[in-house]
Amino acid sequence: MAKVLVFIDNPGSALKKSSLELLTLARSLGDSAVAVNGDVSDAVAASFAEYGASAVLRPSAQDLDEYLVAPKVTFLAAAAESTGAAIVLLDNSPEGKEIAARLGIRLGAGVITDVVSVDSDGSAHKAVLAGSYNTTCKAKTPVSILTIKANNVVPEPAAAHSTPEQGTVDVPAAGAVPAARVTAREQKVASGRPDLTDARIVVAGGRGMDGNFGPVEELADALGAAVGASRAATDAGWISHDAQVGQTGKTVSPQLYISAGISGAIQQKAGMQTSKVIVAVNKDAESPVFEIADFGIVGDVFDVLPQATAEIKKR
Ligand code: FAD
Repeated sequence: MAKVLVFIDNPGSALKKSSLELLTLARSLGDSAVAVNGDVSDAVAASFAEYGASAVLRPSAQDLDEYLVAPKVTFLAAAAESTGAAIVLLDNSPEGKEIAARLGIRLGAGVITDVVSVDSDGSAHKAVLAGSYNTTCKAKTPVSILTIKANNVVPEPAAAHSTPEQGTVDVPAAGAVPAARVTAREQKVASGRPDLTDARIVVAGGRGMDGNFGPVEELADALGAAVGASRAATDAGWISHDAQVGQTGKTVSPQLYISAGISGAIQQKAGMQTSKVIVAVNKDAESPVFEIADFGIVGDVFDVLPQATAEIKKR
């Protein structure tokens, strides 16, 4: 049975849905272990057991967070070696991808990013060239490192489980090795909305919102969704750059993506076309966005979105 190692960084008080997805995927591929950095609450420890991890490894040093990603790579490399992992799974965040790339060098392992599913033989499926092709790829190296896009696996607890073995991986204190250090962290203003890359529903607005994201935000709040945007909207300063979806923004894969006043340029598609259901609202019936939409509404966003919000609020 293949050994599969999942990296979870700073789980906080409870595991995020994307972490549960990684644990579920790992279990489907073999004997899964977790390498976790940061504090592990009782709820997180219970989730590791519930999702079938056979071992939980933590670093001996506690200062990894103060030094960007390099010390986390050292920890993960040591954890991969000690578990004999054939597959290492990370989330598809920018940091997850950076760790994956550095770990690939460290272990001489192939790295595949933006993965949406993995077969039992370790073959990974992903879209390439801004979503023009779906490919199946497999690393030729003994160890493969995969970063997994959120919302592509249904999180499921294991049918039977037991308490995972606890272990510590010896790593040098990060401060002992010369490295770039984090000197300050800026607290994000909490919006109360789900994280864009993790959200089950995303409502995204584009240039068609003409500087007024109110209707997008109201619909998002009625649906419990995250707010996304095209680059035209973020470049115009109508919404934060954090909300940009696309080739140079975030990649999302929600159950439902509502695109409002967005034309569907290839760079926007690259970040959202693996969404399960795409609903597009655009006043131009010829807009390319309708080529990828499952449901299309030809209409003005300032009519359609408030009507949708009002209907949802009635339920
Ligand atoms: P437009 O293309 O101007 O489309 C606006 C749409 O709104 C039109 O279809 C119009 O019919 C519709 N509309 C207007 N008014 C209304 C109304 N009242 N009601 C309904 N519909 C209305 N773009 C991204 O999104 N993400 C990226 O990550 C990204 N990266 C890029 C990287 C590179 C290297 C380059 C070159 C470009 C990148 N772009 C990216 C930009 C991309 O090419 C497009 O320019 C951008 O996506 C267009 O945004 P938009 O669809 O909001 O605007």
